Amino acid sequence: MSTRGRYGKVTDDVVALLAEIAGVKNVLTGDGRENYSRDETLRVKPVVPEVVVKAENTDSVSRILKLANQRRIPVTPRGGGTGLSGGAVPIYGGIVLSLEKMNRILEIDKDNLMATVEPGVILADLYQAVEAQGLYYPLYPGEKSATIGGNVATNAGGMRAVKYGVTRHSVLGLEAVLPTGEVVQSGGKFVKCSTGYDLTQLITGSEGTLAVVTKIILKLIPPPGNRDLLFVPFHNLHDAIESVPDILQERILPVGIEFMEKDIIDMVEQHTGKEIPLHQYQAFLLIMVEADNQDEVHRIAGRIGEICLRHGAVDVFIPGSERARRNLLEAREKFYSVIEHFGVLDIADVVVPRSRIADFVEKVKEIASEYGLPLVAYGHAGDGNVHLHPMGQGTESLEKKGKELLRRIYEVGVSMGGTISGEHGIGFVKKGYLPVAADRGKIDLMKRVKRAFDPNNIMNPGKVFDLE
Ligand SMILES: Cc1cc2nc3c(=O)[nH]c(=O)nc-3n(C[C@H](O)[C@H](O)[C@H](O)COP(=O)(O)OP(=O)(O)OC[C@H]3O[C@@H](n4cnc5c(N)ncnc54)[C@H](O)[C@@H]3O)c2cc1C
Repeated sequence: MSTRGRYGKVTDDVVALLAEIAGVKNVLTGDGRENYSRDETLRVKPVVPEVVVKAENTDSVSRILKLANQRRIPVTPRGGGTGLSGGAVPIYGGIVLSLEKMNRILEIDKDNLMATVEPGVILADLYQAVEAQGLYYPLYPGEKSATIGGNVATNAGGMRAVKYGVTRHSVLGLEAVLPTGEVVQSGGKFVKCSTGYDLTQLITGSEGTLAVVTKIILKLIPPPGNRDLLFVPFHNLHDAIESVPDILQERILPVGIEFMEKDIIDMVEQHTGKEIPLHQYQAFLLIMVEADNQDEVHRIAGRIGEICLRHGAVDVFIPGSERARRNLLEAREKFYSVIEHFGVLDIADVVVPRSRIADFVEKVKEIASEYGLPLVAYGHAGDGNVHLHPMGQGTESLEKKGKELLRRIYEVGVSMGGTISGEHGIGFVKKGYLPVAADRGKIDLMKRVKRAFDPNNIMNPGKVFDLE
């Protein structure tokens, strides 16, 4: 973090100007700033920002950025702080620009199947508002207290990506503010666009390093009629993973296909005290299906069950009630907190071609055993996204081993045609590994794009890559 000296300080006159722009009640310089010093990333040292400013509208964002740019003060945009890559940690101090108060749902347009929202709307509120209008926002990136702005900035994924894609596939337009204070509009309430460079897609996934997103136009769909869930045990992960291409080739498009192994199932049972059906087997697929009517759901579930049995599935468990279905899904949603409870050194979210998941998991477990570290693996089998957790309580030497192991995991993932992050982003914690996944030419081009948006490098500096 040697560039700290290049940045301006948040002096009293800067605080006074921020208070003039955003209102005194929206500027924190004392207690409470520590709540903005970290996100949900494991083992990242919290950094308390010099000041937290809560913007209430686009004009405020624009004036705050203009001031910060003139004074060379780093700005870290922040949504719900649920990120898993240290993206919202203000590593150079400066200003944390919180979007939590820009949380209005501006429009739900039933005719065009679109919602226009401010960035601080949290997922839970969006779901509720959209469903009240008889519509559906299908993405589910794991944590309902995350904001839509944060989802856009990280291009969040989650369990329903097989059918509905990741956040960028639902973003039709954005309003964003550049560090100069300029407000840019990109995309709109239309579904096709071949009109110049696609800035919507460039800003989506840019982790707050190019601009602050202040408005988002999202695609909605009619709600699915009926749902079902299959929990399918196998004797080994290879058999489970080999079922996946066959399911997709049969033109059955499940909402999501998750994989997990016995180790995480055992941990969930120990932690929650609840028994998971068929827990004695080694590997599992959890498959979510939807269709217009119950008969069609049964037909799809039956077909998927047959394919899994052909690939060596031991049984096909279909929960008999909504409650049993919910329990299984909730068990899956708890994986991250369960892992934390048992002591985890790190988290990786490598993505590989989906047919390679089992080989990848086997190989990285072999490598983990060289380091004497247990490695828990689970993830989104339908889109090749593997979450890996080297387990252990964090002594310094163990943490060092964990970091070395991660580098090797990333190298194996890339050598199998994958990349180092499928959904959590690079942020601060993975930037040292970016060269494993991107060659010099690509990183240089990204740096040139960054400089075009942000010549003074004030927008979330030190995230994704270092500029100097
Ligand atoms: C239990 C748990 C489960 C999770 N499961 C998933 C999952 O399944 N899939 C998945 O993809 N993620 C998952 N996540 C990670 C997390 O929820 C996502 O990264 C989410 O998109 C972050 O949103 P946020 O509002 O909390 O953003 P923050 O953490 O506040 O910020 C994340 C990044 O976005 C930037 N940012 C935030 N708002 C803006 C804005 N308006 N303009 C510009 N930049 C901005 C920040 O600077 C930072 O770089 C999970 C997290 C937890 C804790």
